Amino acid sequence: MQQPINVFKFGGASLRDADAIRHVGTILDRFKDQRLVIIVSAMGKTTNALEEVANSYWNGKPDVAREKLGAIHAGATQAMKDLFAEVPEELTAAVNDLFVSVEWALEEDPNEEYDYDYDQIVSLGELISSHIVAAYLNRIGLPTSWLDARDVIQTDNTYREGWVKWPETVERAERLVPPLLDSTPFVLTQGFIGNTSENYTTTLGREGSDYSAAIFSYCLDVEAMSIWKDVPGVLTADPRYFENVTKIDRLSYREAIEMTYYGAKVIHPKTIKPLQNKSIPLYVRSFIEPDLEGTYVTDEAGDAYPPMVAVERDQALVNISTRDFSFVAEHHIKELFEHITTTRLQVNMMQNTAISFNVVVNDIDDRVERFCALVDQHFKTTIDRHLELITIRHYTPEIVDSLRRGKVNLLEGRLPLTLQMVVKDVPVIRRKKEEDVAL
Ligand code: ASP
Ligand code: MG
Repeated sequence: MQQPINVFKFGGASLRDADAIRHVGTILDRFKDQRLVIIVSAMGKTTNALEEVANSYWNGKPDVAREKLGAIHAGATQAMKDLFAEVPEELTAAVNDLFVSVEWALEEDPNEEYDYDYDQIVSLGELISSHIVAAYLNRIGLPTSWLDARDVIQTDNTYREGWVKWPETVERAERLVPPLLDSTPFVLTQGFIGNTSENYTTTLGREGSDYSAAIFSYCLDVEAMSIWKDVPGVLTADPRYFENVTKIDRLSYREAIEMTYYGAKVIHPKTIKPLQNKSIPLYVRSFIEPDLEGTYVTDEAGDAYPPMVAVERDQALVNISTRDFSFVAEHHIKELFEHITTTRLQVNMMQNTAISFNVVVNDIDDRVERFCALVDQHFKTTIDRHLELITIRHYTPEIVDSLRRGKVNLLEGRLPLTLQMVVKDVPVIRRKKEEDVAL
């Protein structure tokens, strides 16, 4: 019988430099008898650097854009030199071609759509890292086929947030991936990127490589998917901001989706649905200590869960009230929701009173301004910015008290399992151990 397929995903931190890539090689060496589809992110902070290239270009500073791109190219070249005693010629050629294609694009005037230009430039990071890692695995005796994820993942043309066209994507994955796995045990491809029907590159949203891995997992109906992280697994809160966090051993899809949707950054929120739909288990594991168990996410509801905290920053609270003091009636809500949809506002919380409607949204680009301009005819709006949304699953009075301390609470919502609060102007400072309740 043929070996089952597993999907592994390695993020930017695990591919930060030559040493990190070597470490990935040692992890993969343990799985050399398996059939693996490996999804990689861009190395380290390359995507942020490419965003700066895109912004300089768009803001009419092509020279700055070129200079920043040059620095990224130099960084990639250095990583290759560090990684290989002798850099394979085909690798140098492939990487140079990728940079040249973006250099040429920077010679042209920007397109009318920022998001389009952004995707053509920012997608470079995953293309480069995938070439480097695949060449390295081949060099160390782990035969690996390089696959262009854009040949598989098809999306609409919502640039920077491509929506997956599932039937097309499934058909391509089923047709293209198994033959590659017949020729080499490993297939390596990019996270984060997709392709439109006109053959333009799209991206799936920042940190979207996890989602790419889930898309491949779904399409190939794999045995399991593993995300290799720089943390031991899913934790009860973000260890950068909270002391006393603990690892959760088992998590249901439901819990995982609730927490990641509200800002638990350990997994991209879109990752869970494709896995849940095919009952594919997810392992979140430490690439630093690969022998540890990590967190296992499945169908099974876990036992009693500890309180878990997620913090989402850059939130805006928009208070909307009718101009003529009339109640916020159903037809008003319908109108507001239409504008929420057209401006792609992502709503995290809602609450209404007789004459006002309050939404808490992710404050992205100028979406809130565009929304307020659209509703201006019938509604007055006020915006409160730079807020944090704190979500606590399985809350206890002690946790709630401890998190409220020293904060201005602007809005609160409670359901039996979830408590959410929107708080003002409190930079999340590292909390002192003695003030903290254990998480
Ligand atoms: N490289 C992309 C980003 O940094 C995608 C990812 O890492 O998941 O957003
Ligand atoms: Mg990343």
